[in-house]
Amino acid sequence: MGLGIYIHIPFCRKKCYYCDFPSFAGYETLMEPYGTALSMEIEEKSLLLEQLGPADTVYIGGGTPTALPLGVLARLIGKLRRTVPIKSDAEITIEANPGTVDEEYLHALLECGVNRLSMGVQSFNDTILRAIGRIHTAEQAVRAVEMAKSAGFKNLSLDLMYGLPGQGLEDLKTSVETAMELAPQHISIYGLQVEDGTLFARQQEKGELRLPVDDIVEAMYDYMTEYLPDRGYVRYEISNFALPGYESRHNMGYWTDVPYLGMGAAAHSYMGDSRWNNVSSVEKYIKSVETGLPYRENEELLDRETEMEEFCFLALRMSAGIDKRAFQRKFDCPIGSVYNEAIEKMKARKLLEETEDHIRLTSLGMKFGNVVFREFVF
Ligand code: SF4
Repeated sequence: MGLGIYIHIPFCRKKCYYCDFPSFAGYETLMEPYGTALSMEIEEKSLLLEQLGPADTVYIGGGTPTALPLGVLARLIGKLRRTVPIKSDAEITIEANPGTVDEEYLHALLECGVNRLSMGVQSFNDTILRAIGRIHTAEQAVRAVEMAKSAGFKNLSLDLMYGLPGQGLEDLKTSVETAMELAPQHISIYGLQVEDGTLFARQQEKGELRLPVDDIVEAMYDYMTEYLPDRGYVRYEISNFALPGYESRHNMGYWTDVPYLGMGAAAHSYMGDSRWNNVSSVEKYIKSVETGLPYRENEELLDRETEMEEFCFLALRMSAGIDKRAFQRKFDCPIGSVYNEAIEKMKARKLLEETEDHIRLTSLGMKFGNVVFREFVF
């Protein structure tokens, strides 16, 4: 695989109560100048991107990219496609919120060359959607998916969440069933994490957040990880399931050591042995790009040990696991010479299994991935 390009759109109509992503509500007046600044960054990076060769994937994420006015988004994608070498069969994904798209918007995305739509649905239960601060109803989500399909999207992904306030196992099953009726090609499942700085964290501190008990959350996880494969969705990564051939190429790149260049506020990049991110303040990003000031920060040269750690725990997220030969090629030593103790310990606990070519999580290991990942940290 070649290069991945990530474009960050840091705007949302409203902040969801669980979300700690770099995204902001109430920034409508900055959308147009942000689009202009991003176009300038694309221009600025065009030489580098030419040297790196054509991109295999483009991922426009956020935030809510579809919160942008259609004209701003279409100009941006047009600029990217004119300026940057992109393979003719590239996967071009955009994240969409069901409350922000209509038929015209979806048709325009296809015309711009977007060929994969990742829809943040989270649940098909209106009470739960309200409880987590989503801007859309279940019916809007169903309609948005149907509109996307009739517009011509043939590669659709839905995000679902579990462990949400007020959610029971039956609610989750109903949401999964509704998702099945919509027949997406890809499903991502995320357990709720209460992150610092979110409304949920503040509610939890005051004892006001009512979450399902651990046993129920575990039953939800077990249900989805058994049911989705039964319905033909192959679990190719801890949180991701796809019909064969519809795995997210862009995200696979993150897990398999493919370089990526991020553009836009807060976007992260990884190339060779270094990584960095752009400033996350939208105002600072726009001003810096406009005036030629630096907007890259946290530049880090990765040492060999950090590279090994990340190579392993990112690869372990995938069902295929660590490719032993790829490790040997990258680090010029067999993985066993570095991690033998960790591997044997995790195998003894039935969290890892080893084949001739790979080391991978067992299904128990998938559930307790963090226990395994810790063993790969120096
Ligand atoms: S729509 Fe997505 S990015 Fe925006 S606040 Fe909600 S979860 Fe966060």
